[in-house]
Amino acid sequence: MSDNKSSVSFYQSVNLMADKAMQVIGLDNGTAQAIKSCSSVLQVQFPVKIRNKIEVFTGWRAVHSTHRLPAKGGIRYAPYANQDEVEALAALMTYKCALVDVPFGGSKGALLIDPKKYTRDELQLITRRFTLELVRKGFLSPSTNVPAPDMGTGEREMAWMADTYKHLHPEDINYLACVTGKPVHHGGIRGRKEATGRGVQYALQEFFKYPEDVKLAGLSEGLKDKRIVVQGFGNVGYHAAKFLSQEDGAKIVGIIKSDGYLYNEDGLDVDAVYQHVVAHKTLQNFPNARFSTETEEGLTLDCDILIPAAMEAVIHEDNASEIKAKLIIEAANGPITYCADELLRQRGVVIIPDFFANAGGVIVSYFEWIRNISHIRFGRLQRRHDELRHQHFTSLLEQLTGTTISDELREGMEQGSEEIDFVRSGLYDTMRTGYCELREVFNSNDKVNDLRTAGYVVSLKKISRTYLDIGIY
Ligand code: NAD
Repeated sequence: MSDNKSSVSFYQSVNLMADKAMQVIGLDNGTAQAIKSCSSVLQVQFPVKIRNKIEVFTGWRAVHSTHRLPAKGGIRYAPYANQDEVEALAALMTYKCALVDVPFGGSKGALLIDPKKYTRDELQLITRRFTLELVRKGFLSPSTNVPAPDMGTGEREMAWMADTYKHLHPEDINYLACVTGKPVHHGGIRGRKEATGRGVQYALQEFFKYPEDVKLAGLSEGLKDKRIVVQGFGNVGYHAAKFLSQEDGAKIVGIIKSDGYLYNEDGLDVDAVYQHVVAHKTLQNFPNARFSTETEEGLTLDCDILIPAAMEAVIHEDNASEIKAKLIIEAANGPITYCADELLRQRGVVIIPDFFANAGGVIVSYFEWIRNISHIRFGRLQRRHDELRHQHFTSLLEQLTGTTISDELREGMEQGSEEIDFVRSGLYDTMRTGYCELREVFNSNDKVNDLRTAGYVVSLKKISRTYLDIGIY
């Protein structure tokens, strides 16, 4: 969706935000232009016979940067997709991957479609046809361009894409690495589905570890009992809300979907709301909570933390002054327009930027891609070995202390790590390191006044170094 509540487009908004950091690091104009430009964009139009009628679909795949390969980024199915949006999202992928040291370039794709209007079989047909276009035109392969799920797509679409690629390239032993976010039984990795929401949780946990950062936002210490409003209750919003409430003791006081919002100042039971939405396709009639169809109003509910996890440009010039949250963590891509960003910062609202906050998805996609090209599950070689070492260690401990370790404790101590343990540990470590880099720049550079500019400084330094090392030819 273009930034229709502001005078600049989504891509311009991303570039304006990056410009501020380019000035801070004194990047020369040529290199700045090279980094900001979108390397290539493919637009395809293809016919599919649906219910005995021919429908023509339009899709895009933008490659923003190829300074690292493959280029990486989701594919969304949305009724409002357009080229500007896809280019903006591809640019964000470039900055995101650089920030969290995922060695990929930036890409993004979209299909102009309302997936709710089609059956499963029809969507399969459309997805396979779209994949065919992307593969034939060199915009999808394990080594050059690897999609993942985004709005309106999930494991199912990724499995169809991988299978279509395999049929077109039966000789490619790495075919499973052509997309990430696949089902676990079809080459996916445990923890990918929850990864973006989990990453949002880890980012907030890191933020709350630094009292000076928390104070800057005007919040009290600790995530426990913080009142959170989440916009978007899909893959990202649901998982973030679930983990923050169930594991950190935060209160999810508001949940906003396209048809309205729910509010309960004592906190909502996230899983109960999820079950309600699965059963009724709406938030309406959920017990013991206020429901309103005023979706926009939901963003202005009284809360400590706002998590926009739906779509871009939802916080704009017209509603920025109404936002009550002191901290906004951008789980969606581009939810705050350039102008709204300025207005919120003037009011002292702290913003944890999208290209860091929602990086969990691409971080775990990176693990999945490695798993696919190495053809082995993480932990498969060392789990038993670790268990034996732990058993040896517990026996030694018993001998040295003359005590007997309880069965429960022994079980915990002797367990070898599963794939999900490695994935969560890698994700946590990457988010922790990312936040440390971000705040280090924020605290040490007088010209940097916000976490977003700090993030761009970190990313741009890494990207421009690659450009300088390799040279431009
Ligand atoms: P999704 O399709 O699973 O869910 C989107 C949710 O947003 C749905 O609940 C929908 O009802 C809601 N929504 C849509 N329009 C809305 C509106 N105007 N007001 C309120 N709610 C609205 O999508 P997702 O995968 O959760 O992605 C959400 C955002 O996160 C997108 O910006 C996407 O680019 C970004 N993101 C996703 C991933 C991922 O791994 N899926 C990774 C990084 C970033």
